[in-house]
Amino acid sequence: MAVQEQTLRLEATELLQDLLRLDTVNPPGNETQAAELLARYLERDGISSGLIARVPERANLVARIPGGDGPSLAFLSHTDTVLADPAEWERDPWSGDLVDGEIWGRGALDMKGQVAASAVAFASLVREGFTPAGDLVLLVVADEEVGAGFGLSWLVEAHSDAARCDYAVNEGGGERLELGGRPVYLCATAEKMSAPFRLRVLGRSGHASMPGIADNALVKASRYISALAAFDPPKELIPEARGFLEAVLGEAPPADEAIARANELNPLLGALVEPLLALTLAPTMIEASGKRNVIPAVCEIIVDCRLPPEQTPADAEPLIRAALGEGDYELEWLEAVGGTRSALDTPLWDALESFVEELEPGAALAPIACPGFTDSHFLREAYGTVAHGFFPVKEMDTEVATKLIHSANERIAVDDLEAGVHMLRHVARSLLG
Ligand SMILES: [Zn+2]
Repeated sequence: MAVQEQTLRLEATELLQDLLRLDTVNPPGNETQAAELLARYLERDGISSGLIARVPERANLVARIPGGDGPSLAFLSHTDTVLADPAEWERDPWSGDLVDGEIWGRGALDMKGQVAASAVAFASLVREGFTPAGDLVLLVVADEEVGAGFGLSWLVEAHSDAARCDYAVNEGGGERLELGGRPVYLCATAEKMSAPFRLRVLGRSGHASMPGIADNALVKASRYISALAAFDPPKELIPEARGFLEAVLGEAPPADEAIARANELNPLLGALVEPLLALTLAPTMIEASGKRNVIPAVCEIIVDCRLPPEQTPADAEPLIRAALGEGDYELEWLEAVGGTRSALDTPLWDALESFVEELEPGAALAPIACPGFTDSHFLREAYGTVAHGFFPVKEMDTEVATKLIHSANERIAVDDLEAGVHMLRHVARSLLG
């Protein structure tokens, strides 16, 4: 066993280094080179895979080990990365250097590390003659970072059967927190909906030298900005909030007391809990007069708004209007993206929970509704897939890891990479064994 574990660690390290040496910055992506590298890697164990592409240079890779009538499980990951400016880095962002137990390169954490771990877990199971009770699927997609229609959103539409799965392990969680209670690992079981809106505050223009003749929309807007900042929405213990609080505090207090209880333990915990209890609002952009001496007739405020899973803008609007009160403004929703969730009482949750117990005895697994968007949304929407974001970050400090994502000097600890391989193998054996 020890020999095999050593082999998997080395195998994942080398595969990740090779992946990092390919420039798959999106745009333009050029993910086909990564898909071809993975296809060649899988071929060593006689595994055939399909490259499915809308345009030749942006291939998605799908490999499937057919199973029986049992549920199917996918290891989901993406090969594209955000850009990297070499001038900001201490090492070449495409070096794949291994230094002091860490592998450097753009995408090491987001998410070529999980790509490599997924491929190694998949291939090693095949090598051992693992016969899954349902299909085991390796789903490595392009174009997650931009979402221009070449990756999973396209795949589930154009090649629906290729991506179909009942369960999926994706990115979006795995961070380790220790905030006064027992250590917890986060698991992204849901996503909040991104639903920004524009507030157009209306006034009357005039010359700035005689403010009395005009009705300054910018000045009027200040009242609404203050109201948005003071907005205190009704709080609710959605399943993710309940599960998170139970994991961290040992019990779930009433929704209205949850933030105070979390703050007692650690103020950072309160900030984490707040977005789980209700929608959040953050005014982020403002535009008024284009000239210093002209009083604006219109002031536009853009508000970043995140809704709990399954809440809609139509549900939220009356709450927001009540907070703003009557007035000269128009409210316009700009988009509504994401906002899906997966059930928590499933074999996938149990498998991840038992993995965490193995990784660090006494640690808990805590569900979280991710504030950002991941590809899990497309699987949930298309097939009702139970999709969880999880990749263990134990060796590297969570705060350090979080700062490296989409930033300079991105790197992953080899220990975490190896733990990821074991996590995926554990999940496959638990669900399909
Ligand atoms: Zn990512």
